[in-house]
Amino acid sequence: MEEKIQALLQEVSAYSVTDKPGLESFRIKFISKKGALGDLFEELKQVPVEQKKSVGKSLNELKQAAEQKFSELSELIASASTSGDTGLDLTLPPVDNKVGNLHPLTQTRLRIIEIFERLGFNVADGPEIEDDWHNFSALNFPENHPAREMQDTFFIEKNPDILLRTHTSNVQIRMMEKQKPPIRAIMPGRVYRNEAISARAHCFFHQVEGLYVDKNVGFADLKQTLYHFAKEMYGKDIKIRFRPSYFPFTEPSAEIDITCLICKGKGCNVCKYAGWVEIAGSGMVHPNVLKSCNIDPDEYTGFAFGMGIERVTMLRYQINDLRLFAENDVRFLRQFQSVT
Ligand SMILES: [Zn+2]
Repeated sequence: MEEKIQALLQEVSAYSVTDKPGLESFRIKFISKKGALGDLFEELKQVPVEQKKSVGKSLNELKQAAEQKFSELSELIASASTSGDTGLDLTLPPVDNKVGNLHPLTQTRLRIIEIFERLGFNVADGPEIEDDWHNFSALNFPENHPAREMQDTFFIEKNPDILLRTHTSNVQIRMMEKQKPPIRAIMPGRVYRNEAISARAHCFFHQVEGLYVDKNVGFADLKQTLYHFAKEMYGKDIKIRFRPSYFPFTEPSAEIDITCLICKGKGCNVCKYAGWVEIAGSGMVHPNVLKSCNIDPDEYTGFAFGMGIERVTMLRYQINDLRLFAENDVRFLRQFQSVT
């Protein structure tokens, strides 16, 4: 009898059903009064007294195992019947998991930061709502400079002037006011100009400026830093050139061009057949700017540069319309999914 119990125990543990009729036949076969258990309890009465204890124990184990199996199978069938009705087809391919991607401007900003951080530049931040001193006066803007006029600047208040910053140079001033040289930092951020929106201009855009002030900082340092940046950003075959220019806050000043990435310098409509495209403005920090921030221009010198992140991104991916960056059209944005 013991053998019979063990055989049934195995049968119970291996039993599997997928529907309610199957479950019912399990119940009839094992648990019901006329089932295997009922028969065995009947047989137990015939077992000699000295074996009754051990056989009875085994039989109870079988009973428990069968009952447990029954409740497990009932649960399984109940859950299968609720999910089965939803028409779930496990053979279908999985639903595409839509992972977003960083905005192309963010990707470019992170890349710029990465390049300058390796040269020892910190990343600095400052307010977008600024006063006249930090946005204009401390930067050696003459009182009558056209950038101060209403058509270029969004003024929030007049007298005293509060405005939306027109460049990230305000962060340079705030750094120099607070910190003694050496100062070596880049300032990425959003800036605002009161301009009509077109393929080449927007009322807000992003800049990265850089500032390095220390003893004996010269124009050669500026050139080498930006040359390194251009090679890292656009590839090592890139050529760079400096064109003399004018900014109130630097002296001497230079605009920086790189070889046109589209025509490789041969001339095309993007570079207006010049073979060069402008990427940044730069120069040695004007002594008046250093004085405004209580830094002695006889002891310290510095260079500064600034570039538009939109411009860098447009060159990097050959995008021809500035407005695309702010339109949030996913058909445009999805194209940068695999870039990072
Ligand atoms: Zn070109």
